[in-house]
Amino acid sequence: MTIACLGIGVGGSASVAIGDAFLITNGPICVTPSWIKVEHIEDEVRRFETALQLAAAQLRGVREQIPGDTPSDIAEFIDTHLLMLEDKALSSQPITLIRSEGLSAEWALQQHRDALIHVFEKMEDTYLRTRCDDLDHVVKRIMSILLEQHDTHFEELRGHIVLAEDLTPADVILMKNQGIAGFVTDYGGPMSHTAILARSLGIPAVIGTRGATTCLQHGERLVLDASSGVVLADCDNDMLAHFAKRRGADIARTVELRRRGVEPAVTRDGETIHLMANIELSEDVSTALVNGAQGVGLYRTEFLYMNRVGPPSEEEHFAAYRAVVEGMQGRPITIRTLDLGADKQPGSRTHSGASGNPALGLRAIRLCLKEPELFMPQIRAILRASALGPVSIMLPMLTSTWEVEQTEHIIHQAMAQLEAEGFDFDRAIPIGGMIEVPAAALNARAFAERLDFLSIGTNDLIQYTLAIDRVDEELNYLYDPVHPAVLRLIREVIGAAAAADVPVSMCGEMAGEVRFIPLLVAMGLRELSMQPAAILDVREQIRHLDAARLARTVDRLFESFEPIDPLALFDELPPIH
Ligand code: PEP
Ligand code: MG
Repeated sequence: MTIACLGIGVGGSASVAIGDAFLITNGPICVTPSWIKVEHIEDEVRRFETALQLAAAQLRGVREQIPGDTPSDIAEFIDTHLLMLEDKALSSQPITLIRSEGLSAEWALQQHRDALIHVFEKMEDTYLRTRCDDLDHVVKRIMSILLEQHDTHFEELRGHIVLAEDLTPADVILMKNQGIAGFVTDYGGPMSHTAILARSLGIPAVIGTRGATTCLQHGERLVLDASSGVVLADCDNDMLAHFAKRRGADIARTVELRRRGVEPAVTRDGETIHLMANIELSEDVSTALVNGAQGVGLYRTEFLYMNRVGPPSEEEHFAAYRAVVEGMQGRPITIRTLDLGADKQPGSRTHSGASGNPALGLRAIRLCLKEPELFMPQIRAILRASALGPVSIMLPMLTSTWEVEQTEHIIHQAMAQLEAEGFDFDRAIPIGGMIEVPAAALNARAFAERLDFLSIGTNDLIQYTLAIDRVDEELNYLYDPVHPAVLRLIREVIGAAAAADVPVSMCGEMAGEVRFIPLLVAMGLRELSMQPAAILDVREQIRHLDAARLARTVDRLFESFEPIDPLALFDELPPIH
């Protein structure tokens, strides 16, 4: 057995995956300039045309194998690529370049790709600008045929452990549908949306290994242990049997915890903690329910925008929300308005080309207020869904209260339109905000007075407070949810909500980590929203706590500015089983 790589383990309910490695080369397309002899020009044109036809045939093959119950976006995503492949705008210019300048097919395609990307990137429309991803996908597919590279057929991924330099949230959704066993990346941080999605979809992963794609071989049998962030190669049969047993034990434990899940999350001294689910797709509702979620505390709607051409229509939004509202059978649902930008682009590109610093760029509510035509269909659909069950609207990445006012204005406009059109909706729909920018946390009282509820988004709050990009694996060692500055900000928000008498919850990843639960309960939080699989362990932890005793202990944390390990304060607590 060899410890092949170390990284950050990302596990949901399952932490072990065993499977053969599937190496995906998704680095930048890199072709060296090359020319061909005049007498070979027509052969080269034919080679290019054949590659186009092969690429289209591969995509048609993938499309035919999509299971019937797969969300329609996936098929649309492939259709877009097929359309691009068949479009003369993509094929004719490289052929001209081969014929007129004698470029090799690869070099001609690369030249044309670069020219098209240049045009896309100059586009005003942020959404269209992000279409570069689709172009790159298609070009990579043709290029890999031309270069006779190893090609990624998604249908080949079932049961494999995918190795890639980096994967985007959009990739993870596609691969989940193809039944991957797990994945390992060279890059990425534990709070990246790729990691969050893996946790919530229950895909074991090890990310940020800085080298898995170079030190592991395509096809070799691997064991991925997300609980320790280790990837093992060359395991003998005993080792494989050991890990298969552990995987079985994970499953058995989940079944047992689910069975106990009917019992409420109440501390030993009788404090009820409401446990809600964070969901990304309407399909997550069943996992949320089976794990005993009392509602949806965060519905990340931006995943509706991924792997497709153009933004979803109002009807598509509405269909997704209706599925969640109906699925949750009367439990409350908090729908967060679109938080595209930074590491969540609609296509598969990791970063927006628009800003060198996308996490500080046109993201979330900023994008929505700048592009109301993108925002309005979503707001109308959320309002329409509010007629079907208890729905709230939550605004991401608030920084200043005028953003709330502007959004309310748009919501009122949408209400007036729906009223005139005869649609039913909840006129008193609660409007809440995420506190995830330090400015908003420091000024939380102003938000608490204007909004119906607050939710603390620690993933971003930590990123912005500690000035660490959440997708940069080189900074993982600085990612500290219990940094005194972060805890002071959280305390500020909880205090502001209490003073204004509005509910406050936490929906960042911190809320789903068992080791932080005593601290969060001690600080006064009574509602936590987390990836559905985490609810089981968190509920068990809560049942061992004494909230009053914790609250007495927590003040010691803020008595001085001396470093103190906040978790050590609570370590006399009994371990959970
Ligand atoms: C957060 O920032 O904590 C959060 C819940 O939102 P997201 O992870 O989607 O940015
Ligand atoms: Mg956030």
